[in-house]
Amino acid sequence: MGESTCHEAIEELQIPEFMKAIRYVEPKMFTLVTIPVPRPGANEVLIKVKSCGICGSDLHIHSGDLDTRMPVITGHETSGIVVKKGDTVSMFQLGNKVTADNSELCGHCYYCRLGKPLYCENFAAHGLHRKFESLAASSSWLKPSY
Ligand SMILES: [Zn+2]
Ligand SMILES: [Zn+2]
Repeated sequence: MGESTCHEAIEELQIPEFMKAIRYVEPKMFTLVTIPVPRPGANEVLIKVKSCGICGSDLHIHSGDLDTRMPVITGHETSGIVVKKGDTVSMFQLGNKVTADNSELCGHCYYCRLGKPLYCENFAAHGLHRKFESLAASSSWLKPSY
């Protein structure tokens, strides 16, 4: 590993105090805001986003024809690198390249225990229902390096 590559890797893991985000307060009403960088909970990872798609759902959020909890920060299809992890996270290491499921399932409600997680009573989708904070490690995956 060359010196510049090592330096870039260290810079990638530095976490600023604040970040910019697009936040919708109602359909068709969004602003660029500066917000604190989220702190991951015990079972969560913080991902520095390197790329983010614009999904068809984002267009529905914009137009107001999708059930969305406002205010919301959109952008739920992301990939990036793990820059911080909670105390109980063991399957990821800092610097891992990851992508994530855009939804979180509770794993303990009636439907989750029945093996029908898509009916989860506590279903929350990033960028729709859940304030976009850090991601549950259980909904993140390692992304192959290219
Ligand atoms: Zn989507
Ligand atoms: Zn559930």
